[in-house]
Amino acid sequence: MAVEANERVWPRIVVVGSLNLDLVMQVEAFPKEGETLFGSGLSEVAGGKGANQAAAVGKLGTAVSLIGKVGRDASGDKLIHSLQQAGVDTCALLPSDQPTGRALITVNASGHNYIVVIPGANADLTPFDIDEQRQVIEHCEMVVLQLEIPIETVAYTLRLAKRLGKTTILNPAPAPAHQLSSELLQLVDFLIPNEHELQSLTGFQAVADPASLEVAAQSLLELGAQAVLVTLGEKGCCYLDRQQVKTYPARKVEAVDTTAAGDSFIAGFAVSYLQQRDLDAAVAYAQQVAAITVTRHGAQSSLPTREEVEAFG
Ligand code: ADP
Repeated sequence: MAVEANERVWPRIVVVGSLNLDLVMQVEAFPKEGETLFGSGLSEVAGGKGANQAAAVGKLGTAVSLIGKVGRDASGDKLIHSLQQAGVDTCALLPSDQPTGRALITVNASGHNYIVVIPGANADLTPFDIDEQRQVIEHCEMVVLQLEIPIETVAYTLRLAKRLGKTTILNPAPAPAHQLSSELLQLVDFLIPNEHELQSLTGFQAVADPASLEVAAQSLLELGAQAVLVTLGEKGCCYLDRQQVKTYPARKVEAVDTTAAGDSFIAGFAVSYLQQRDLDAAVAYAQQVAAITVTRHGAQSSLPTREEVEAFG
């Protein structure tokens, strides 16, 4: 059958989430209240959890679309360009009357940071917008979400995705101020928090030891999540569903910058799970992708290609 020249290539994965232009400032030490000091470096880089995860999937060579919103401004143009460079389909990005989302990040000499996010256009992504892009979701196999867009849009997208029989991944980041509803969690096939997000989601005081981590994650299964995969930084990750609990050590690497570790992990997991529907293989691939990411500086600039992951082995 002849393929029309302008026939759309539908994505296998749809990410619904945020785009931010990050302004990163280097300082020796953080300023105290009322203090003015000189910084030593300034850079503007593409960020936002939705955009990072979509870019990571694109670089791994799987067809991906990002549904999100940017302002009609130069920052938005820059972000769209950077996503296209990573192989992301940007046809489902919508213009907003609000300015493009921004994150102001101050990094001190020991690599610690302070981050202020101005959501702008991201806060303007509504259930109505998701309906407008329904076709993209209908054609995909998997939908990936985070929490940098309005929670009603996250819930609406999850409901639609499940109605259409799609696999859903929710990365509950940034850590929500309130626990997520059981109605929402029941729509999630893979809930992938880091330790801090797990703590916020469950209201548990600490999840530092394996036993309390398991109790916390179990409580999310009881609320309705189908499976919980907790990322534990250099310690790897822990998977739980109603049948099993599994821990996986991380790959041993020399980490220089852990920015986007979680985003690249989620992308790797999504890409591999889609191909093989095999949990162990998907976690192994996710940890390979994330391990490479932490050996490099930056967010989207540190994400590996499929060839680089294959070479890493
Ligand atoms: P987040 O970036 O969301 O805080 P984590 O810090 O939990 O996420 O890291 C996500 C994944 O990245 C981990 O499960 C692990 O596979 C990988 N990772 C993170 N830090 C390291 C590290 N120092 N060495 C090797 N892998 C790492």
